Amino acid sequence: MSEPASGTRYIFVTGGVVSSLGKGITAASLGALLEARGFSISVIKLDPYLNVDAGTMSPFQHGEVYVTRDGAETDLDLGHYERFLSTRTSGLSNFTTGQIYNNVITKERRGDYLGGTVQVIPHVTDEIKNAILAGGEGADICLVEIGGTVGDIESLPFLEAIRQFSVELGPRRGLFMHLTLVPFIASAGEMKTKPTQHSVKELRSIGIQPDILVCRVDRVLPESERRKIALFTNVYERSVIAAVDVDDIYKMPGLLQRQGIDDLVIEHFDLGADVPPADLSQWSALIEARSMQDASVRVAMVGKYVDLADAYKSVNEALGHAGLQTGTHVEIVYLDSTSVERNPDASLAEIDAILVPGGFGERGVEGKIAAVCYAREHRIPYFGICLGMQVAAIEYARNCAGLPGAHSTEFVTDAADPVIALVTEWRDIDGDVQTRTAASNLGATMRLGGQLCRLVEGSWVAECYGSTEIVERHRHRFEFNNHYRQRLADAGLMFSGFSAEDDLVEVIELTDHPWFIGCQFHPEFTSTPHVGHPLFNSFIAAARSQKTEK
Ligand code: GLN
Repeated sequence: MSEPASGTRYIFVTGGVVSSLGKGITAASLGALLEARGFSISVIKLDPYLNVDAGTMSPFQHGEVYVTRDGAETDLDLGHYERFLSTRTSGLSNFTTGQIYNNVITKERRGDYLGGTVQVIPHVTDEIKNAILAGGEGADICLVEIGGTVGDIESLPFLEAIRQFSVELGPRRGLFMHLTLVPFIASAGEMKTKPTQHSVKELRSIGIQPDILVCRVDRVLPESERRKIALFTNVYERSVIAAVDVDDIYKMPGLLQRQGIDDLVIEHFDLGADVPPADLSQWSALIEARSMQDASVRVAMVGKYVDLADAYKSVNEALGHAGLQTGTHVEIVYLDSTSVERNPDASLAEIDAILVPGGFGERGVEGKIAAVCYAREHRIPYFGICLGMQVAAIEYARNCAGLPGAHSTEFVTDAADPVIALVTEWRDIDGDVQTRTAASNLGATMRLGGQLCRLVEGSWVAECYGSTEIVERHRHRFEFNNHYRQRLADAGLMFSGFSAEDDLVEVIELTDHPWFIGCQFHPEFTSTPHVGHPLFNSFIAAARSQKTEK
């Protein structure tokens, strides 16, 4: 390994006591602070579950599948990192225990271990260390977040691997940051540090001494408690950071900065005292923008996983970003598509804009089509993303182009008019031909990742982007069936974006409607709080101005 002065530094982020403490947001906020101080950052999320393929996991249980630009289907936490940092994640940024074991077993079966006994230590831990090394390469600082909670059986190999890794790195190259909970017990009227003490004890018993403790608290952490935590956990007092609950996640970088967390990291890594302080004005601007919102719109999100907001995490965030960009408070109303199907008028009456996000599987598709019909006829801004574009095309074919049997072969394999169908061959961003058939495995047959799309000059979508060439990320199997293009165009549907390689339909829009765009890609993955996303910003602006006119 290279000399400490030149190589990548690693911050290992673990969590204790309970899950859902906001480890991802805390780590991303620290990353943002360090980025603002001029360091390049990379991130890795290690997930202790056994699934090999995040793409086939249920969004009901795990939240959305986040797609990286290079086409990896990953944990939704990577989305936080891309929204907080300018760094872009990739297939090297997320590993599950299942993938690690899969690699080890493949190597074993190939004979790479020459018949030796294959064990957790060193084979599994070596595989983890290699993954961390690959993910961190080239960055000044790499954040490595370990999913789960210290004490779980599942995360042990990861913890053992990072312990070994930091020893091999040598001094001043690895830092352990541990996140815990310091609960307030109302009946006793005081905060309790014992769970934190135990969690650190657990970590130390496997050889990891945290350098920084971030304590999640619901009120100010008294100095006496900070001192006590420091004493019992062998952490410097100034390295015990209080993460007080915030009403706005964009307050996190500032909250951590005020306690000097970035200075602690820079000192620990010996990165020089002359690094200028972080300028957090862009983050303060966001907090300010939220307080300045002077109108509000109700956006209906019609989908299948409506009871789990995390299933549409990036779409929610992108709508929120658009609200910050346009001074508009965006209220998201989750509507189950089956109830929209039963009674579109009642469910959509009080709504200012309608969004149909991506989705798979048949349940609820007719409700989504009904929502599109309602938006088109009532001239309500409509934004269809992926499946949302496909249902918009089906609706138009059925109700405006005289094709009542129009459908997607995903839902009706022998549809009379398959306006959405499986395209068996396409080229990826590198120009390599990829294929799929109806019988292909669910795992690896999607059009995935960033692809170049050409927008039609003069279209509304090109106007929004201010460009006729864009790269957006995909995650779908089915496509608009080009055999129907002329028929629908003659009926008035505008096709305004095409894949550069294959002439696949990427965007449709209605020109005689206040705002009606469907896109085959997922724009939500590239929205950031600081600039939003051109389509989301324009969609919310349209909803806002239409509401004002009413
Ligand atoms: N189910 C559709 C397809 O596979 C849409 C996917 C999506 O919305 N992400 O093409």
